[in-house]
This record gives sequence, C-alpha cells and structure tokens, in this order.
Amino acid sequence: MTASIASPTGATWTIIVAAGSGSRFGGPVPKQFVEVAGRRIVDWSIAAARAVSDGVVVVLPPGGEFGIDHDDMVSSVIGGDSRSESVRRGLAVVPDRADVVLVHDAARPVASIDLFSRVADAVRGGADGVVPSVPVVDTLRSVDGTPVDRSTLVAVQTPQGFAPVALRAAHATRDVATDDATLVTLVGGKVVSVDGERWNLKVTDPDDERVAAVLLSRRA
Ligand code: C5P
Repeated sequence: MTASIASPTGATWTIIVAAGSGSRFGGPVPKQFVEVAGRRIVDWSIAAARAVSDGVVVVLPPGGEFGIDHDDMVSSVIGGDSRSESVRRGLAVVPDRADVVLVHDAARPVASIDLFSRVADAVRGGADGVVPSVPVVDTLRSVDGTPVDRSTLVAVQTPQGFAPVALRAAHATRDVATDDATLVTLVGGKVVSVDGERWNLKVTDPDDERVAAVLLSRRA
C-alpha cells in the first residue's frame, strides 16, 4: 500500500462511499467491486485515500462479504438507501480529532493523490467545503430544448473536502443530495472550487470501465 503523507498539522479522514447497487452497470456485482487494471475499483480509491489520510472509512452495501483489508487505518460500515445516508453512516465513525473530512465516490478510481491533497489543503485554507470542478466542454441544451450557456456551469467531482463542523451540520438536516457540497451550501456553508481532473471519471457503465482500465494501467 502507498505510504501515508498525511498532514502533520491535523488529522484527515476520508469516507469512501461504496454502498451503491451500481444498477446502471448491469453486472453481477456492484460496479465498484469490478476489477480494473489488476485491482478492484474500490481498492484503487482506497489506495489514493490512504496516501493522504490518517483514517479511511469505507461504506459498504449490506449483506455481503466485500474483502476490504481492515487495518489500523481502514475500517468499514454498512451504508444506507441513499448516497447521503451512506455518507452519514461513515461520518458517524469519524473521530472528533479529524480537522478535515474528505468524501469520495468509490466509483471514481482515477482521482489522483495530488487531487486528494489539494482538496484537503483548501479546507485547511479556511473553506467549509471544497469541490474539484472541471469546465463543461459540450454545448448544452435543457431537455425542453432551451440552449444553456455552458460558461456558467462546471461539472463537480469527488473527492470533496469539508471542515467537520460544516459537514456534520449539513448532514444533521437528514437531507438528500447527489453530493455533500450541495448539503453544505444549503446550510449556508462557504464552498470553494479547486481544479478537478478531466479523467476523474465516475465508472457508470462498461465503457467507463474500459477507459478507466487504460488510465489506471499506467499506474499499476
Ligand atoms: O449512484 P451514484 O453514481 O451517484 O453513486 C456515487 C457513489 O455513491 C458510488 O460510489 C456509490 O457506491 C455510492 N453510494 C452509496 N450508497 C448509496 C448510493 C450510492 O454509498 N445508497
């Protein structure tokens, strides 16, 4: 496993949400447990998180044996019916000494250690929340056919990073959203962007798996 370069100034904990059913993927196991370039998708995500974290909580689907290697850094809990509920269950076991909490989709195995680091650094710089974002390159229309100005939009990725007090306040609402930064914004938190990574794709269908395999085989 990668050696830790965790911050000397505080504790970074990472929640990796891996409890989705991956139903769009269509295979016998959820997409995050499919092997790509010699390692399961979830294990690529754990490896990147370990490199910048003092603790990693992996949130798993109920009712299975998922072969996560537990040690003094990595633990696991069972997730819930929504991504937000899964994050809440992971957050419940993050200790109070954490000064940065990162939340990462297991299904994004290509996110680099550098991206994890930059997100954590930006939280330590004073933000309540930090999102990696990338420009939208396609021309956009709404589903009713109205053209949309893409210059006003970005696509948001994970890992996202948070001051623990902001993330805990956001999740205390029990609201549900597709990411955590949305919940932090809804409770009045200040969320800033850092540059995301164009190839930090979320593996959603088998074509994504093939692209991820090419990208990750360079690191294997
Ligand atoms: O469904 P979506 O693609 O938004 O899932 C993003 C991440 O959230 C995935 O890694 C998935 O495993 C996780 N998730 C979860 N619990 C759920 C739903 C999704 O941990 N109930």
